[in-house]
Amino acid sequence: MKTILRTNITVKDICDGFVYNELEGKGLFGLGGKLTIQPEYQRNYIYKDGKKDVAVIESILKEYPLGLIYFVKVAENKYEVLDGQQRITSFGRFVTNKLAVKVEKMEQYFDSLPKEMQKKILNTPLTIYECVGEESEIKEWFKTINIVGVPLNDQEFLNAIYSGPFVTRAKEEFSNSQNSNIQKWRSYISGSVDRQEYLECALDWASKGKIEHYMAKHRYDTNIKSLKNYFTSVIDWVSTVFSDVPTEMRGICWGRLYETYMKQPYNPKKVSEKVKELLSDDYVTCRKGVFEFILGGCEHPRLLEVRVFDEPTKKSTYVKQTTAAQKKRVSNCPLCVHGPKSNKKRIWTLAEMDADHVTAWSNGGASDRSNCELLCRTHNQSKGNR
Ligand SMILES: [Zn+2]
Repeated sequence: MKTILRTNITVKDICDGFVYNELEGKGLFGLGGKLTIQPEYQRNYIYKDGKKDVAVIESILKEYPLGLIYFVKVAENKYEVLDGQQRITSFGRFVTNKLAVKVEKMEQYFDSLPKEMQKKILNTPLTIYECVGEESEIKEWFKTINIVGVPLNDQEFLNAIYSGPFVTRAKEEFSNSQNSNIQKWRSYISGSVDRQEYLECALDWASKGKIEHYMAKHRYDTNIKSLKNYFTSVIDWVSTVFSDVPTEMRGICWGRLYETYMKQPYNPKKVSEKVKELLSDDYVTCRKGVFEFILGGCEHPRLLEVRVFDEPTKKSTYVKQTTAAQKKRVSNCPLCVHGPKSNKKRIWTLAEMDADHVTAWSNGGASDRSNCELLCRTHNQSKGNR
């Protein structure tokens, strides 16, 4: 790969013909039409947070360096931004009056600034490296330079590596915050649309966890039908089984649950009652486990991480149980009393015993003193999950 250093391009040159797409939230073109600001392999514009974008403008006003910018030369007089897209979009939006910043404590748009200040901004020179080379080389380079700044997350990185018609269409569907379905999906998916986390989720479900393999296989597909269909099936299934959308539903691996339970019939009304009951149960400490617990027929309380007895409860129960056992000259483990001779009279130490629910939590038993019983390790483990 060849690189040429260019220092004669200014903010004004880049902003010539600057187009910002409000709908997709990205800067598209500049440099009099010669520059594509957001090529396919680039991530969405994520500086639009009133902080990072403002910081770019403040740097220019204070004459701080903006850092290196990299262009790829794709044809004669045609360039794509390889690195610097976020910075360029930020000053492009400012110069075209789409972003205001505080100058001497006053909120200002570009047009409202004094003329000499406008001039200073426009005449700011940029340090640009122009790269010429093969696609693979350039992507390798892209990987390297993106280690600085806000690092690419896994999905942004995969989008760059497998860029092509499939990623472009998939992003239109799953990385587009204007998509009206996002509102519904938000109930089940956590993360940010802009940072590709919805796309990552859709790919994860459809590929059964093998995103990379899936993206490589579909890279040159011109449609995303199978991805979209699978994702929609999962969402439809969840929203049918669970009629409410408590916040605990966000970020669960619904794809896996769909694969496991989609053939089971459920009564949405009963499911809804059970969800409410469990989410209001103080003993349930893993609230996200409620959904899988119900889907699996309420058979695995381990998914709920039901609250266990605290240390003072264990200690006082131990003292009470041991004193009573010593009086009767039997073991302080009630199950050892009826067990083989060797342990019938054995007094275990507290460390050798575990607390157990007399009435199981699943039958309404509480995790308090009245329902606590200590068993020796062996007996407690053999009782297992009730
Ligand atoms: Zn025992």
